[in-house]
Amino acid sequence: MANKIDRLREELDAINLQLLELINKRGEIVQKIGKIKTKQGVNRFDPVRERNMLENLKKENKGPFEDACIEHIFKQIFKASLDLQNVEEVNHLLVSRKKHPEDTIITINGTEIGQAGSPAYIFGPCAVESYEQVDTVAAALASKGFKFMRGGAFKPRTSPYDFQGLGMEGLKILRAVADKHGLSIISEIVNPADLQEAANYLDVIQIGARNMQNFELLKEAGKINKPILLKRGLAATIEEFILAAEYIMSNGNGNIILCERGIRTYEKATRNTLDITAVPILKQETHLPVFVDVVHSTGRRDLLLPAAKAALAIGADGIMAEVHPDPAVALSDSSQQMNLAQFDSFVEKINLFSNKIR
Ligand code: PEP
Ligand code: MN
Repeated sequence: MANKIDRLREELDAINLQLLELINKRGEIVQKIGKIKTKQGVNRFDPVRERNMLENLKKENKGPFEDACIEHIFKQIFKASLDLQNVEEVNHLLVSRKKHPEDTIITINGTEIGQAGSPAYIFGPCAVESYEQVDTVAAALASKGFKFMRGGAFKPRTSPYDFQGLGMEGLKILRAVADKHGLSIISEIVNPADLQEAANYLDVIQIGARNMQNFELLKEAGKINKPILLKRGLAATIEEFILAAEYIMSNGNGNIILCERGIRTYEKATRNTLDITAVPILKQETHLPVFVDVVHSTGRRDLLLPAAKAALAIGADGIMAEVHPDPAVALSDSSQQMNLAQFDSFVEKINLFSNKIR
């Protein structure tokens, strides 16, 4: 009896190997079809074709498996084949490191972003409020040798009754102050129609968390000749974040900085939850520089320094944080911006840390 079972098992082993070979052969053909479909720009998933294949299999089914069981097994095979095409797709993204193994270095007015071991910093107020306010912050930045200043002019506020920003007027203030102090500036644009005009004033255009999936804005950002800092959406997966960057790059603009800024979770101790491991994941999966915004992720002044240290330690190419001459009267994010004395101390400590881990 034992002998008989052994023989039947040998038969099963041989069939397993045949199935294995056939499934992989099937996979190779599916990949070929996927490539042709990509070239033609047609959708890979073809439900009508899938339905026909299942009907045909059920018609030919002589048992002992029931039709429902055959349908279930083959659906798994179809699904695995489609996933095979999707894996290929991710590896072929323009932003993918598999496609472009070297780090992308973005040079802005002579300063490089993305150079391993030399992190960049973007500091500045949450919002541009006045010439004097921006000028005070810019003087502090320039005196410490920083090159980039931020300041929101088109503010995407949760409430329509909150300060909405100074708009183009704000960008003009930023430009004037930046030229006075030799800084490069970055500011958020929310409307595709404003991109071209904004590009006259800005060195880097920010696309904010709330607009990460504003696909028309992403497409237009791909058509302008300015680096883009793209922030992760409030509830975006890393895959969605990468695909948002792909929108920009596939429209012609490869100068993209990714910025992790925290995601919404059930945790209330911080404004958002800083997804720190998104940094090495994004560095592995893409060739783009990755920044961490320690302000909007934590929403807490006492966490800016530890979050910035964590970001540098885990391989971020840069940090963004907010500085305001008098945060108590700031028109937005007043509880999380640093004043100038806090900024001094932050810079001293983060520089020490950065030198130590280099
Ligand atoms: C900002 O940087 O000013 C901002 C609004 O950030 P986020 O889009 O990440 O919320
Ligand atoms: Mn802010």
